[in-house]
Amino acid sequence: MAGKAGFNPFEMARSQFDRIADMIDLDSGTRELLRTPAREFAFTIPVRMDDGTVKVFRGFRVQHNDARGPCKGGIRFHPQETVDTVRALAMWMTWKTAVVDLPLGGAKGGVICDPHNLSPREQEGICRGWMRQMAKLVGPLVDVPAPDVMTNAQHMLWMLDEFEAIHGAKYPGFITGKPVGMGGSLGRTEATGYGLVFTLREALKELGVRAESTVAAMQGFGNVAQYAIELYTRLGGKVVCVSCWDQKDQTSYTYRKPSGVQLEELRSVADRFGGIDPAKAKDKGYEQLPAEAWLEQEVDILMPCALENQITGDNVGKISKRVRLIAEGANGPTTPDADKELVARKVFVVPDFLANAGGVTCSYFEQVQSNMNYFWEKDEVLGKLDVKMTSAFLAVSELARKKKLFMRDAAHVIAINRVAQACKDRGWV
Ligand code: NAD
Repeated sequence: MAGKAGFNPFEMARSQFDRIADMIDLDSGTRELLRTPAREFAFTIPVRMDDGTVKVFRGFRVQHNDARGPCKGGIRFHPQETVDTVRALAMWMTWKTAVVDLPLGGAKGGVICDPHNLSPREQEGICRGWMRQMAKLVGPLVDVPAPDVMTNAQHMLWMLDEFEAIHGAKYPGFITGKPVGMGGSLGRTEATGYGLVFTLREALKELGVRAESTVAAMQGFGNVAQYAIELYTRLGGKVVCVSCWDQKDQTSYTYRKPSGVQLEELRSVADRFGGIDPAKAKDKGYEQLPAEAWLEQEVDILMPCALENQITGDNVGKISKRVRLIAEGANGPTTPDADKELVARKVFVVPDFLANAGGVTCSYFEQVQSNMNYFWEKDEVLGKLDVKMTSAFLAVSELARKKKLFMRDAAHVIAINRVAQACKDRGWV
C-alpha cells in the first residue's frame, strides 16, 4: 500500500468516508473534522550508521481522532512510506477501534527506511530517535503505538525503554506488542486469525450453514492465515488450498490438497515469512498451482489473508458461483469495483476492519493488563476476544439486515456514527 504509483490511499480513505457521510447525512462540521487528521507530526531522525556517517531518516505520526479514547495504531518501517499512507491507515484505525467498540481512537506512524539493509544497532537508533522526537506527544493516556509492517516486539521494547528513560518512570501500558514476560499478552499471536474465524462462525450461523459442511480456500500462510486455519478446522471446516509468496521465483503459488490441508504438515515446509518450499510441499502430496488458483476453487468460503488489492474488477468474475462468504483477514484485499460485483452476487462479506480487528482488540487487552500489572491466562484472553468480536459482528449484521446494507457499509456506518457521536458529546462539533 505504501506509495504505489498513481494510487493515493488517503484519497481512497477520504472518498470511502465521504460516501458513508452522505449516506448518514453527516453535518458539514463533523464531516470536515473526521475527514482530516487531528494532529500530524513529521520529523527527522539522525542516526550514526555503523560506517561512522550520519544518516537522516524521516519519521511520521498521524493521530487521526481521539474522541473515544487515546489514539492507537502501529508504526511501520517501509522504504516507500508516505505521509498519505500513514494518514489513510490512521483514519482506518479510528474506524476499526470504533467498530469493535474499544475505548480508543486511531493513529499510525512510520519511518522511511528498509530494515533489510540496516544492522540491529542502526534499527535501535531509529527506534530511539523516533521516540526522542515523539516522547512528549504520545503516552499511555494519549497515543499507544504497536508493531506493524517490518517492526516487531524488539523495536517496541527499544521505543518503550527510550520513553521510560525520558519520563523517568515505568509505563508498561504504553506500547503494545511487547514479548510475553515483558508486558505482552498471551493469545496475541492467535488473536487476528482466531478473531477472523469468530466472525466467520457467526456469519455461517446467519446464513444457516453448518461449519462442518463447508470448504474454504485461503490466500496467505502467515500469522493470520495459520491461526484462522487452526480454528476453522477445529470447527469442522476444511481448507483445500493456501497460496503464498515464493521469494525465489518472485511470484506466488497456490498449494492444494483436495482432502484438506494439514496445518502442521504445511508448517513443517514453511519459512518464518509464511513462504512454502514447493519441492517439500510436493513430497507431502500438495499440488502446486498458479498464483490466482486459490480464488477459482469450488468452495463455499474465501479467506484472503495476505495483502491488499487481491480481489479486483479483473478477477472477481473467476470466483466460483458456489462461494457464499468472504472473510477478509488482510487489510483492503477487495477493491471497490470488485465489491460492486460481490454485492450484485449477494456474497456475504465480513469486511476487513471488522474481520481482522482481533489483533487490535488483543492489543487493547495487553494495555489493560499492563496498566493493572496483572496478566490473564490465555483462555481468559481468547474468551474475552470471542465476546468482543461476536458482539461487534452481531451489531453490524443486525444493521445490515435492518437497513438492507452491504456488510462493509453497515460496519462503516456504525463506526463513523460512534466517532461522530463522541465528537458531539464532547462539544467539538
Ligand atoms: P505475514 O507476513 O505473517 O504473512 C503474509 C502471508 O502472505 C505470507 O504467507 C506470504 O507468503 C503471503 N503473501 C505475500 N504476498 C503474497 C502474494 N502476492 N500472493 C499470495 N500470498 C502472498 O502477515 P500477517 O501478519 O499474516 O498479515 C496478513 C494480512 O493481514 C496483512 O494484510 C496485514 O496487514 C493484515 N493484518 C494482520 C494483523 C496481525 O495481527 N498480524 C492484524 C490486522 C491485519
